[in-house]
This record gives sequence, C-alpha cells and structure tokens, in this order.
Amino acid sequence: MWCSTQVVSHVSLLAALSYASRLGQIASSDWACLNDSVSGRLQVGNPIALPCYQQYSNQLGATPAPNAVDVAACTAINAEKTNATFVMEQFGGYLTANWEACMSQNLTCPVDGMASSNQTCSQGSVPSYYIDARDAADVSSGLLFAQTHGIPLVVKNTGHDFRGRSSAPGSLAIWTYNIQPEIEFAEDFLAESCLDSSGPTLTYGAGQGFQGLYEAAHERGYMLVGGTSPSVGASGGWVTGGGHSALSNTYGLGVDNVVQMKAVLPNGAFVTANRCQNQDIFFALRGGGGGTFGVVMETTSRIHPEVPLQFAFVSALGAAPDGGSSVIDMVLDNAQKWANDGWGGYLVPGKALFEVILITPKLTLDEAKASMQPVLNYTDWLQSQGVTVTANVTTLANYWEFYNEPISQLLGAVGVGTGTAYASRLLPKSSFEGSGKDALAAVLKQSSTTAGMLLVGPASYNIPESDQPGGPGEASITPAWRSSLWHMLAQTSWDPSDATYGGYGSATALYKSISTAMDPVRAITPDSGAYQNEADTFEPDPTVSFWGANYDRLLGIKRAIDPANVLTCHQCIGWDQSDERFQCFPTI
Ligand SMILES: Cc1cc2nc3c(=O)[nH]c(=O)nc-3n(C[C@H](O)[C@H](O)[C@H](O)COP(=O)(O)OP(=O)(O)OC[C@H]3O[C@@H](n4cnc5c(N)ncnc54)[C@H](O)[C@@H]3O)c2cc1C
Repeated sequence: MWCSTQVVSHVSLLAALSYASRLGQIASSDWACLNDSVSGRLQVGNPIALPCYQQYSNQLGATPAPNAVDVAACTAINAEKTNATFVMEQFGGYLTANWEACMSQNLTCPVDGMASSNQTCSQGSVPSYYIDARDAADVSSGLLFAQTHGIPLVVKNTGHDFRGRSSAPGSLAIWTYNIQPEIEFAEDFLAESCLDSSGPTLTYGAGQGFQGLYEAAHERGYMLVGGTSPSVGASGGWVTGGGHSALSNTYGLGVDNVVQMKAVLPNGAFVTANRCQNQDIFFALRGGGGGTFGVVMETTSRIHPEVPLQFAFVSALGAAPDGGSSVIDMVLDNAQKWANDGWGGYLVPGKALFEVILITPKLTLDEAKASMQPVLNYTDWLQSQGVTVTANVTTLANYWEFYNEPISQLLGAVGVGTGTAYASRLLPKSSFEGSGKDALAAVLKQSSTTAGMLLVGPASYNIPESDQPGGPGEASITPAWRSSLWHMLAQTSWDPSDATYGGYGSATALYKSISTAMDPVRAITPDSGAYQNEADTFEPDPTVSFWGANYDRLLGIKRAIDPANVLTCHQCIGWDQSDERFQCFPTI
C-alpha cells in the first residue's frame, strides 16, 4: 500500500528539514495509512521507565508535559530491570541501557524507583514510532514509509546491541522481536535453486532467541552453533555481525553455519539468498553487519549431531602473588595447543581473577585433563598461596548440558540494565608465537585493564571449498577472523541511573578510556581486526577492522541495493558520520 499524500518530488525538499520537523510534518492520514497497511501494529515508542515519571519530554528539545504515573507498572519495571527477557519484551527496553538515552545531551529516562515530581523522562534515543512487525509486508511498508518521508529508520530485535545500532532519536523502528514462527527442523534441507542437500537444519524467524533453538536441536539429538546468552537474537545482529560461540573453534562462526536467509531489501523486495542464488546478498548478510543490507525475516542454519563435551571450569578470586605474570605466560604458551585440542569458550587471566569456562568436543576426559594440566598446576600453586580456587575438568553429555550449567546461565545474563562500553581485538596466531607472543605478554602484563579472552576463533574449523574467498558461500566478516585464536574483550560498566554517568562527561570519559586501553594491542596486531558486535563504539578504523579485504565488495553491494542509505547505523557500511541520527552519540 502506498502511504503518502505527498508526491515523490517532495522528498528532495525534505533535505533542509531536521528529522524532528520531518516527523512533525507527516500528515495524520499518512500515519493512519501506514497503520492500516501493518494491520494496526504501528505504535508510539516510549522509554521503558516512562510509567515512573510525572513529566515526559517526548522528543529531543520538547517541553515536558504531564504524564500519568502507573505505580504497578513502575514497580514491575524496577523489579525486573536486570531481567533480559523482561527488558527485551518491551519495545523501549535496551539491555545496554545507555542506548535508550541521548548521551550527548544528558537526556535520559533511567529506571530508578519512582521519579520525583521535578524529574523528567526524556525520549532520548528511543524511536518515536515502531511497527511491531510480523511479516515481510509489514517490513516493506516501514521501509517505504521511512524513505518517502525522509525519516530515519531503525531495525530493532532484542535491543542487545552494545554499539547503539538499534536506537536513534526521531526515528521509525521496525521491531522484529515478535517474528517468532514455530522452529522448523529438516533432516535434509534443500536450499532454493540448490541441487544438493545441506543436511540437518533448523529454520527460524527474525525474533528467535537461542534458548528455543538449543532446545529444538537437543530434542532431536543435535546442537546448534550459537551464543551463550539465551536471549541474544539468533537471526538479527548476532548472525549479521558474524556470531561467535563456545563451539566456534571446531564448528565455525554463526555465518559459517547459515544455509539460507530470507530478507526484505531496502527497496521493499523480499528475497531468498543462499549459495545458489542471490549470492551477493548472502555474502553481505553474513558479516556485513545488522541493519544495513536488508531486514532478515528467516534464517536456516546447519545443526550438528550432539557429542559429549569435556568441560574445564576454574574460578579463582584473589590477588595472584606474582602480580599475574605467570598466568599470562602460561595461557599464551598453551594457546595454540588448546586451539588444536578444540577448546572454546571464555578465559580471564587477570591479576586478581582467574576464570576458565571452556569446552571441547575433540578430547576424551583423560586427554582433556592432560591438555588442561598447566591450568591445574597454576591453580594448585594459587591454592598453596592462600587463594580460594575451584578447578575441575569433567564430562558433559552434550551442549544442552553445558548451556544449562549455572555458570553458562550467569554468563548470558551479565550486564543487563547497565551502561557498558567495550573495546576488543582479534588476536591472530602470530600473537602466540616468537616475538608476537613476547609483545602480547608485555602488553598484558603492563595493562591495568582486566580483559576477557574468548577462545572463539574458528581455528580448528575446516572452511569448505564453497566458502573460500571467491566461492558462492563466502562470508563478509573480516578475514582476520580466519587466522585468529582469541577475541580479546575489555569493558567498563556504569549504573545508568547514577546522574554522574548518565551525562555526556562521564560516559565520554569511559568510552575514551576503554578505547585507549586497547591501543597497545592494536599497535602489536596491525594486520588484525575486531569483532564488530563487541567492538569499541569508536573503533579507530572501522572499515579495516570489521571487514578488511571484504569492505570494497560490501560497499559496492550497499550502493547498488540502497542508494538512499535507508538502512544505516553507526560505523556501518556506507554510513554518513554527519547524519543527524547519530547526534546522541558522545564525541570522544
Ligand atoms: C548478554 C549478551 C550476551 C552476548 N553474547 C554473545 C555471544 O555469545 N556471541 C556473540 O557473537 N555475540 C554476543 N553478544 C553480542 C551480540 O551479538 C550483539 O549484541 C548483537 O548485535 C545482538 O543482536 P540482536 O538482534 O539480539 O540485538 P539488537 O540490538 O536488536 O540488534 C542489533 C543490530 O542488528 C540489527 N538487526 C536486528 N535484527 C535484524 C534483522 N532481522 N535484520 C537485519 N538487521 C537486524 C539492528 O539493526 C542492530 O544493528 C552478546 C550481547 C549481550 C548483550
């Protein structure tokens, strides 16, 4: 349905208007038409904590108006603000809470008890309107409406994004979270136009989370390569950004396991992309980044027969007597061997915290204990020095059991409701050999930041011929992933309801400090890159870091399918840094 009372030439006149003015100029009959075309699912977007406030400023710069407080709703929001499921079920909920705010202008609506009468809830970066999309026609209507009226468009799924890509002030959002049809299992999936079966798969909708997929796979004796958090969207930002898993060392990244995707392109066309048709789109959607090349409606992913996993778990909290020097040497000395042995997961070799949460499908229990012996020797020594340690290597029946381990559940819920800034680097094999290893050891020993090491590089994964560079199944993530063992991740978090952090000054300082903390690692890994989903929001050279040699092809595809840049986000392919939609990002 064509929802505009304006003629198309009107679009060029919009350039002189701010987004807020453009929104204000849209005729109510046009909104009504859009609402009709999406079966009444056009809604006004509100910050999650609005029921707690007596005053509400519903767009940047708007004079606050009285708001009706809802005590019961406010009480529930305060009780559940760190519950990922609760937060993502609300359109206005963002797991990394600072992305609801307009940080540059200190305009926020924090969840912080019942607000006093002089506090105002500000719309911040929460989109002004959203379509609670259910099918491709809804998505297509939203894309065409935003383009016609020259207003910014946001694609939001769970709101997990760490880098501000699923919110924007004065925007219309397409909310994909409720696109959750029944998960389909196929023993022998045949992708459209392909002649050969892709083997066992699950097919799922845009809003599907990992919990349901793991369960569906396990019921049939399979496992799926997915993130640790049950709530991350499997078909949204995770897979379009690359998607790592504790299984990635052996089974590849999320993008390696995708067999087919269905998406609505920026021009509203609904396409099916796989290794046999629409290969450019298939390439771009698997690593080119979320909210850029199309709105994914459905993903089909390969699943793998369940196998027993060896599980190494260590938790040692207390200052290492040698200042953390020997643990760094120990983990760097063993990194390549552990990659060969199939270990994947999480490792924190800190000065006051040593944690290991690793699994491998490749070893027997005895082999796993032998492989982890350097860790066990180190924890024995820590214990002899008075540090409290838990350390064991055990066998789990399958990935479903690993996922249900209390520590996995805890990992998946970390950070919900906080403000968080990240910086990261992919550590190549060369950082674990000779002078590269010496340089990395020196940097880590000098650093005052405790970084997590994610053993998620697809080091033991044999990339098939079809997916090699130039092949029909090539993915568009930076090629640096292919030679990396670890994804190093540093973060800093703050309480968004604390007024000192909600604002421009403190958030800016935190973004800057975490960005700077990664500089020495960038300096010793000049040919590597970073994982776009868990990177510095202000990554110094994003095109090289996130896409490397794949950037030029991605930019060409972007220009061909989205010349008006309808789908865009911060540091995404084809973005315009001066776009008013980024006005709420702090400037570091
Ligand atoms: C608690 C937690 C745990 C995490 N664990 C992991 C992990 O184990 N492995 C890992 O790799 N990453 C992990 N991440 C990072 C995660 O991959 C990113 O935050 C990702 O962007 C989330 O995608 P989403 O769709 O759930 O979130 P959203 O914030 O809704 O969207 C993120 C981005 O994807 C775009 N997008 C969403 N849906 C679509 C769609 N249907 N089509 C096109 N674009 C879309 C949005 O526009 C935005 O750019 C974790 C994050 C959190 C908060």
